Order: sequence, then C-alpha cells, then structure tokens
Amino acid sequence: MAAGSSSMKARKAPSRSRSAKKRASGSLSTYRAKRDFSITSEPKAKRVKSQGNRFVVQKHDARRLHYDLRLELDGVLKGWAVTRGPSLVPSEKRLSVHTEDHPLQYIDFEGVIPAGQYGGGTMIVWDQGRWIPEGDPHADYARGRLTFSLEGERLKGKWHLVRTRGKPGDKNEQWLLLKSDDEAARTSEDPDILEEETTSLKSGRTIEELAAQGDIRVDHAARAKVARSGSERSRRPSKVKGAKNGILLPFVEPALAQLVENAPRGGNNWLHEIKLDGYRMQARIEGGDIKLLTRKGLDWTAKFKPIANALKEMKIPSALLDGEIVVEDEAGVSSFSALQKELKGGKGKRFVYYVFDLLYLDGEDLRKAALAGRNAALRLLFDDLPQVGAIRFSDHLEEDGATLVRHACRMGLEAIISKRADQPYRSGRGDDWVKSKCTQRQELVIAGYLPSTASKKAVGSLVMGVYEAGKLIPVGRVGTGFTSEVAGALYKTLTSIEMKASPFASKIPVLQSTNVTLTSSSKKA
Ligand code: MN
Repeated sequence: MAAGSSSMKARKAPSRSRSAKKRASGSLSTYRAKRDFSITSEPKAKRVKSQGNRFVVQKHDARRLHYDLRLELDGVLKGWAVTRGPSLVPSEKRLSVHTEDHPLQYIDFEGVIPAGQYGGGTMIVWDQGRWIPEGDPHADYARGRLTFSLEGERLKGKWHLVRTRGKPGDKNEQWLLLKSDDEAARTSEDPDILEEETTSLKSGRTIEELAAQGDIRVDHAARAKVARSGSERSRRPSKVKGAKNGILLPFVEPALAQLVENAPRGGNNWLHEIKLDGYRMQARIEGGDIKLLTRKGLDWTAKFKPIANALKEMKIPSALLDGEIVVEDEAGVSSFSALQKELKGGKGKRFVYYVFDLLYLDGEDLRKAALAGRNAALRLLFDDLPQVGAIRFSDHLEEDGATLVRHACRMGLEAIISKRADQPYRSGRGDDWVKSKCTQRQELVIAGYLPSTASKKAVGSLVMGVYEAGKLIPVGRVGTGFTSEVAGALYKTLTSIEMKASPFASKIPVLQSTNVTLTSSSKKA
C-alpha cells in the first residue's frame, strides 16, 4: 500500500497498488449489468479519457431522495449515495452508501430514469467542479479514508470520506461523509445548503421542474418530503426500547387497520403511509430459510420466489417482517390487477416487497416496542438497500392525516393507513391502525319523510336533498336498509321537527311529493 507514496508519481499506473489496478479495470461491468440502455437515457459504459480530478454531486429523486457524490479516479467515477445529502456542518456525519463505479460521461447526466429501471427517478447535476485529494487517493480509497478539498460551485473546503462498514466491494459497504471545520463550514444555526440550492447547475431547473417534463412516480413528492425531513437516526441498531429477548415465532397474526371516516389529525402521534394494493405478506427469515406467509399464515413462498431470493441476499440472521407485495404500474402506483397478471404469466420481476414493520430481529421480539422504535430499527436494517429494488422500506409520512388524504386522493390513490407511533404491535383489528379511504363524499340532507304503510308511527322512506350553491335540491328517496326500530326512532325525531314550508329551492316533482312531510332538519346549520 506504500506504493506511490510520492504524490508526484501517483498518477502513473505502475506505481499503483495491485488491488487498485484490479478495481480500476473492468469495474464498469456492474454499472452495465444493472441497466438496460434501450430504456434508460443514462450514458453507456464506454471508457473515455480522464480529464483530471473532477467531481459531481447529483440530486437523485429515486425511491428515496438522496445525493450521489462521484469522484473521478482511475478513469471512472467512484460513487457514494449520500442518503441525506452533504452537510456543511462538521458535526453532521452523513451516511454514504458506496455504489458501483460509473463511466466518466455520467458526470454531466441529468434526466428522468424510467420507473422500473435501476435508480428510476429524476436526477439533476447539483454541483460540479474539481476535487483535490490530500495524499495518495488510490491508497486512501483502498484503506477507506479519503481526505480532499472540493472546488465546486456550491461545495467548497475540506471533506472526509471514511469507511465504517463492510470491506471494499461488499454490497453493504458504508462510508460517512463529513465536513472539516474550515471557512467553508457552517454551524447548525446557519441555513442548510440543500435548502438554499435546489436547482441544476446545468439547466437551472429543480428536480420537480425536470420531472414535470417527463415520467415521474406520483408518490414521489410525498416520499421525497419524508426523506428530507427524516429524523436523526443512530448508526447501530442498538437495543430498541421495549424489545425483549425472545424466539422467532412460526407466524404472528398481522395487525389490521380499522376503517374510519376521517384520517386522524396531529403529526406527532400518528404515522401515515399510503395504502398499498397488493398481498399483505409476513416474511420469516431464519438464516437462509425464507418463508413468505399470508394474512392467514399460508406459505406463499413459492409464488413469490424472487422476493424470497432478494430477502435471502440481505443476509439477515433472523427476522420477522411485515409488509405488502405489490406490482406498480407505469405511474408508480401499486396495482392489484397488475400483480395478478404478474403472478399468472410474469416471471415475477415486477414484484416489490414494501416492508413497513419489524416484529422480530436477531433474538429480540420487538412487538412490545412502540411503532416509532420498530420503525427506526427497520430503517437502519434497510439503510444498505439500493434505492430501487425488490425489497424496499416503506417509509412513514409525518404530515397531518387529513392533508395527506387530500393529496393521496388527488394522486388517485386508494387510501392512507395511519398508525399510532407510541403503540406496540397488536395482532388483529384494533384502533391503533386506521384506514381512511379516498371517497368522493357528498353530504346528503334529510328533507322530509313518507310514513310507513306497514306500521304506524314509523318512517317508510326518507326524502333526500343536497346543497348546490346554497340551494337545497331534491335528489330522491331512501327507503331501505333501516330496521323497524330505526324506522320508529326516525319517525319520533322527524315529527318533532316538522315544518310547513318546503326547504327545497324548487318544487319536488308531483309524483314524489304525495304524502311527504317536510322537516326542519334540512335547515342549513
Ligand atoms: Mn442514486
């Protein structure tokens, strides 16, 4: 590793360590393998001449918003997905997941990577410039400790990249990106550069503007917002509060959501997620043995083999995950009919398992822990995952429930699920989890009634109206669905509020008006 210690000679190939050379050659094969260049507009993996120590930071709104830092080295771009983006505050270490080498042409790439493709989502060039390594970058990269200065438009000063987990080339190779304390540094009181600067250096457009011109996942904005506001998390999945030592159960009956009319308000006590339209599935992981179990505990592993295989690759010793297997349509919305189609005729390549709860992990039963704690542990467990893949962390939205329902409905989604953040995992249907549907609701007004022909002192049918532009319009009668008890109670209530004048703005059609008694319940409150 001492080879090329004189930095003047470091540029020459013969002075490089053998491992650095090995990595440099053929390292674009992973990049190539992950992409279908007949679909994505990303550059093909062709080797071109190096132009020195350039760097780029690309803002990438994939499944989760992140910033890709790429440094030119050995004729390729070495890359890190900085999950929360670079911070100018020296104390704010940012998790940076090492990614595959990219070709040099990638330095200028921005555009919309089609949904379903690796890294599907919108990407802009957020910063570009030169990076100046301190010491020998090959040796430092190999030992997992790079110190360098950035001369970009937005990022300047001295930075460190430090490997904290995994060996070079490991799937789970994790680094931290942190700022040195110098004149380019900021304090946590200063504005966040990621909020100050949101546009592309190349086109001046924001992610949203660029996305608006192309294909984009509809639930992106909401998910991106979560990523941006993501709560601080520790690096290690240390003991979750409320977790107990326990054994991995064969099956846990899933928690189910109660249907409610209105989504709960209050951001802190409730976590929300978009209702997925697929198969609820529990994943039981015990070493290499993966089982996918339905709501009733049926073993459907064989039906969802690609998901089981992807879970196996994660190499989690033992866990019980709760989630939903879906297939997404072109717009990124889960579609049950597409899922069935894929089950019937497809190869299962489109299956995605969204995991939203963690019931057991490596000897610890987490069911007694609060949802917020389970969620944090799950997030950590999934931090290594590629942004787009068969297994994904289904993040929660901390916005007000009512606002979310409105947004979800506008995006054509079915419903949202809201969960109490401070509650343990309870099997069966309870009110810790509630579902609010997107329905086009209209308020109907009881304007009068017809007496029952069958029994005295009972209502036969109700005369209904709706308000349109402040006027009550008759819309017909409702005469079924109530028991004799209800018919009697309604009669009692409605006779007590009888009135002479018609509440309707227009006359009720004659055929409908015979024997109708009008009530003052139709007065607008
Ligand atoms: Mn990326």
